[in-house]
Formats: sequence, structure tokens, C-alpha cells
Amino acid sequence: MIEPHELLLHWLAPLCAGACMGSFLNVCIYRLPLGRSVVTPGSHCAACGAAIPWWHNLPVVSWFILRGRAACCGTRIDFRYALVEALTAALTLTLWRVHGAAAPAAAVIYIVFTAALLVATFIDFDYFIIPDRITLGCCGAGLALSAAFPQLHDAASWPAGLWQSFLGLVTGGGLLWAVALVGRLVLRREAMGLGDVKLLAGMGAVLGWQAVLFIVAVSSLIGSVCGLAALTVTGWRRGMKIPYGPYLALAAVLWLLGGRRVMEWYAGVLGW
Ligand SMILES: [Zn+2]
Repeated sequence: MIEPHELLLHWLAPLCAGACMGSFLNVCIYRLPLGRSVVTPGSHCAACGAAIPWWHNLPVVSWFILRGRAACCGTRIDFRYALVEALTAALTLTLWRVHGAAAPAAAVIYIVFTAALLVATFIDFDYFIIPDRITLGCCGAGLALSAAFPQLHDAASWPAGLWQSFLGLVTGGGLLWAVALVGRLVLRREAMGLGDVKLLAGMGAVLGWQAVLFIVAVSSLIGSVCGLAALTVTGWRRGMKIPYGPYLALAAVLWLLGGRRVMEWYAGVLGW
């Protein structure tokens, strides 16, 4: 039996906060690659420019009430907007359920970090780039937050937290930079974008070097399976590009949702 205040504080509040944050993430996904401000102007219709009142701008709900069409001019609104909002809400609630009770500060950091990964993922799908503001932002924020909250790395003091974050940054950036370098020498073309290198560096800064190893292993596994599946369905086309950023993001989220415990258990089995 769930107490009413427990329901409100630990289920409804994270769900609603996540849905509202998802609405803001849609703005970031749309405006960041265009180099426009994510704060001003307020929400307006991309087709006719009319301002969107808040009651037509409710996360997830409004898309269904308006049946996927803009209230001002009837232009179709992509279902992806509602999907991003629902996904952000679900991930926020889950991360809060997993980390909130034991480590509320870490939970909030992981939620904002995951939001940044969602933005990176959808921009990578659309443009095959990941903006520096996200990747380098994660590097900088990861270092600063690891010093302020050393418990992110199970460290006892701020220099220890900062050191773990730095190790993660160098491991992440170094590993993929080496892959990019070898790819360029062997394949004589761009095998790995610099955006992916910076993204994994940022992930290492926030999550530590152990997470980097997990993320590289899991993302290449899922990426190969999905890539092969896509090739079988659509066939190989010359110059075809498959973004890697989304797989890195997926693996990082899996780490936060229990991958860390799986790896600690596995290290125990091996007797490390
Ligand atoms: Zn309109």
C-alpha cells in the first residue's frame, strides 16, 4: 500500500517534472543545431509563427487532445514530440526510483545528464552531429560536479572525486580517439566522429572510467546488432551513415539503471 505523500513525492512529482523537462528538451533538439536560443522566444508554431498558449503546450497530453495537429493552423505535429516527453518522464521517474532514496543529489545529476543524452541522441539522428555545448558541457559539468559531490564516484574527498572524473574523461576520450585514429588509417575514411569522442569523454567525466568500459562494450554490441538488422532490411547503400551517439547514450542509461551493479557482481564472480 503506497502512502498518499509517497505517491505524490516519489511517483507523481518526478513523472510531471520529467514530462515538463521533456517539453523543454524538444525545444533544445529543434533549436540547438540551428544555433538559436533555447530560452527566448517562448513556444511558437514552427509553421505559422503563432504563439502557443500553455494549455495547448501540455507535455504528452496536448498532442493527443489536439490529435497531432497545431491548434493555430492545423499543421501536423510529429508524434516524436510526445514521444520525447513521455520518454523523459519515464526515465526521470525510473532514475528517481533507482537512486532517489539513497542518493537524492546524485539522482538529480543523473536525471539532468540523461536529459542531455536524449537531446544529443535526437540531434545525432537528425544531423549526424552532437553539439559541443552538450559534449563539452558534460565534460565541464562532470568535473565540477564530481568535485562538489565526490559520492558520485564513491570518493571521500573533493580531490578524489575530481581525480576519478578526470580518469573517466581521459579513458572515454582516449579510447574512442584511438578508434577514430585507427579507423582513419585503416579504412581511409571517417570511421568515428569527433562528436562521439567528446560525448564518451563527457560520460566518463560524469560516471567514471568503469562506466566507460561498460558503455564501449554494450554500445558496440547493441550497435552491431541494430546495424546488421538495418542492413538486412534496407540493404547497403554507398556512403550510408549510422549514428553511434544514440548507442552510447543508451548504454550510459543502462549503466545508470543497473549496469553498474551487474558489472560489480561480475567482477566479484571473477574474484577481482
Ligand atoms: Zn501554426
